Amino acid sequence: MSEPSGEFQLISRLCRGLRNSRRTLLGPGDDCAVLAVGGIKQLITIDSLVEGVHFKLEWFTPEKLGARALAVNLSDIAAMGGEPAACVIDLALRDNLAKRFAERLYVGLKRAARAVKVDIVGGNITSAGQVMITVALLGRARRAILRRDGARGADEIFVTGSLGDAALGWRILDGRLSAPDVARGFLVNRYISPSPRLSAGAALAALTPVPAAIDVSDGLAGDLRHMLRASRVGAEVDARLIPLSPAYRAVAGDDLKLALSGGDDYELLFCMPGRYSERELTRRLGVPVTRIGRIVKPGAGLRIRNLPRPVDLRGLRGWDHLRQSV
Ligand SMILES: [Mg+2]
Repeated sequence: MSEPSGEFQLISRLCRGLRNSRRTLLGPGDDCAVLAVGGIKQLITIDSLVEGVHFKLEWFTPEKLGARALAVNLSDIAAMGGEPAACVIDLALRDNLAKRFAERLYVGLKRAARAVKVDIVGGNITSAGQVMITVALLGRARRAILRRDGARGADEIFVTGSLGDAALGWRILDGRLSAPDVARGFLVNRYISPSPRLSAGAALAALTPVPAAIDVSDGLAGDLRHMLRASRVGAEVDARLIPLSPAYRAVAGDDLKLALSGGDDYELLFCMPGRYSERELTRRLGVPVTRIGRIVKPGAGLRIRNLPRPVDLRGLRGWDHLRQSV
């Protein structure tokens, strides 16, 4: 489940006073909920892609849109260290779209599901003013569960892959940014076809002590703040350590605004004591891992040191307001 801060606070308000049964091991507030079902820890998450909010139709083939709808949910399972199992799909379609659109979207969904051994077990189709694809995904935790609220004082903060690429890709597609061809292809692909870090999440769940983790769907600053709030700690991030791809550097130079707040990266952000080096974590997770800072005492909030140039984080996506539009 992914939610910019404003939506996060709204969900918290709506869920106030919930009285769930003991079957619910972990309720609202993390990437997935956790249920005790027949001796296993069942994970459940839901997310939507909404036309005009998360994407424009002309940016995608229907097949790639279908695959992306599953990928954003897979990322939430990865962030819990779990293994995906089955999904149901709700598809809202505009009346003027051909049936062929839905058929091709399902081709992409089925291909993506097969690749990660997820069963598609049902769904619903409705008509609406804009296209919306909602996937509810079930999974299970084979090992420990990675939670947002597990960060502790003196933990180090790590992130997989590189940040800000997808946000640049979005702006290139939207015509707000131009880029050399090589960088363009890489950045656009990072937005269109994210790679949920399922095997990295499973490897994290095998570490001792168990890390705290969240997926970076709303931008590093926003998602780290979700984790700090849940764990009741502060953090210091060294901007010089934030992992940037060569394509990001080629297009944005030393402007870290999108690396901090861009969203749609679907990398994993995790906190744990400095027991493992970056190299060892990279080996175990099978994806580049970078240490970007450390957890500090409660009340310190999020401090970002050594920014090469000032970035105004207020009002950015994933920071403190509802996202209104593309
Ligand atoms: Mg998430």
